[in-house]
Amino acid sequence: MITLALSKGRILDDSLPLLAGMGVEPAGDIGRLLRVPTTVDGLQLLIIRPADVPTYVAYGAADMGITGKDVLMEHGGQDLYEPLDLGIAGCRLSVAQQKDAPPPPAQRRLRVATKYPALTRAHFARQDAQVEIIKLYGSMELAPLVGLADVIVDLVDTGNTLKANGLVETEVIAPITARMVVNKAAMKMKHVEIRGWLDRFAAAVGGTP
Ligand code: AMP
Repeated sequence: MITLALSKGRILDDSLPLLAGMGVEPAGDIGRLLRVPTTVDGLQLLIIRPADVPTYVAYGAADMGITGKDVLMEHGGQDLYEPLDLGIAGCRLSVAQQKDAPPPPAQRRLRVATKYPALTRAHFARQDAQVEIIKLYGSMELAPLVGLADVIVDLVDTGNTLKANGLVETEVIAPITARMVVNKAAMKMKHVEIRGWLDRFAAAVGGTP
C-alpha cells in the first residue's frame, strides 16, 4: 500500500485532475474523510494541511506527499526526498508593503509579518537586514494596514489580494510550485511502487523524475 498525502486547498484542487488523468479517483467523500481509499488498489490518500505534509512524510505516516515549495523551504526539507516539480499551483513568494509606506523609525527593526518565520529570517539575513518576525497564521495582508507590521512575506498569485488591500510587491523571494516529496526509508523499501508512481506523475506533468 502506498499512502499519498495531499495538501488541502489549491494543491488538492490541482492534484485531483492529475490523479484522474492517471485513472485514480477518490473512492469516498474527499470533503469529509481524512483518509480516502482510491479506485486503484494499493493507493490511499491523506487529506491534510499543506504545512503538515512534510511531517507526515518525514515520519513515514505517508510514503509520498504533495505540498508547496514554500512549505518545504520553511520546513527545511533535509529529511525528505524532493524528486519532482509538479508545476501545479504556481505562484510566487514575495515581500509586500503599503504603497508609499515610510521606512520604520531608525530606533527599531523592520517588522515582517509572515507564516514563514524560518525562510523569512534567512531571506533578510542574506541581505544583512536585522528584522523582527511576527508569526501569523493567515490574512497577512491585514498586518501593514493596522500597523502590526511594516512588510509581509506571503504567496502572491494574481496580485489581486495585495491590490485590494493597497499593498505593492517590492521583491520576489522565489517562484513557487507544488512538489512531490518522498519518505527516505520508503524510497528504499517500496522502491518499485514509488518509482512507478513518480514515473506516472512525471508523465502526467510532462517532466522527468
Ligand atoms: P492572489 O490574490 O491571486 O495574488 O492570491 C493571493 C492569496 O492567495 C494570498 O492570500 C495567498 O496566500 C493565497 N495563494 C496564492 N497562491 C497560492 C497557492 N499556490 N497556494 C496557496 N495559497 C495561495
